[in-house]
Amino acid sequence: MQGLILFLILIIPIGYFILRPRKSVSAPMPATDTQLLQEHVPFYQYLSKEDQLIFQQKAMDFLSYVRVHGVNTTVSELDKLLVASSAVIPIFHFNNWHYHNLTDVLLYKDSFDADNFSTVEGNRNTLGMVGSGAMQRMMILSQPALREGFKNEKDKNNTGIHEFVHLLDKEDGVTDGIPDALLDKQYTLPWLKFMSEEIAEIKKGHSDINIYGATNHAEFFAVASEYFFKQPAQFKEHHPELYELMEKAFGIATEAQRP
Ligand SMILES: [Zn+2]
Repeated sequence: MQGLILFLILIIPIGYFILRPRKSVSAPMPATDTQLLQEHVPFYQYLSKEDQLIFQQKAMDFLSYVRVHGVNTTVSELDKLLVASSAVIPIFHFNNWHYHNLTDVLLYKDSFDADNFSTVEGNRNTLGMVGSGAMQRMMILSQPALREGFKNEKDKNNTGIHEFVHLLDKEDGVTDGIPDALLDKQYTLPWLKFMSEEIAEIKKGHSDINIYGATNHAEFFAVASEYFFKQPAQFKEHHPELYELMEKAFGIATEAQRP
């Protein structure tokens, strides 16, 4: 009997510590920030209350390991949240995703020349890019393009999402438009087939996907993803096969999310 009592005295606290659910250590997002998400991020607006809390945690987690800097411009709280939203939207349905290939996001005050990073001279038509070489683990975004991507609800463009989709694509080592980290092997061939077919349609002027998507497979994947997240119903209607595969890759039916 004494042995049993001793056993219970020892085992109950051990069991309690093993079984006690782990409390979330993260603090809630400040109300001023949740208000900004509510006002400026349509993807967030359409989430359930529970999913909005998850989105907030993912955004805060992202901003805990990625710094957002302004280059000749001031970064607002909203800018930081728009960068975080661009990062969270494509991975929203993956648990514990961490962008291992990113530490810093630089916001430029305007579009820039991808060769010399100038915003005042050269071929200043770049809105965003994922760094390589000395710029490894960095991303550059045009601040006006970042903001515009969330502002205009009628178009299919979102520069922030575009660049983060490049990062996801790069996760397997190559930026080739085939997100091996997201898409099961069995879907790779159908994805390649539909991608190539649609690029041919874009080149003929028969597609409503931005012509920049015809540059190569990587750009196609990034451009189509902007469209998938921003105008899901239209994308599903015009490109049902692509929509279905992207739904599998991102783990979300974006169209069903909207009211
Ligand atoms: Zn691109």
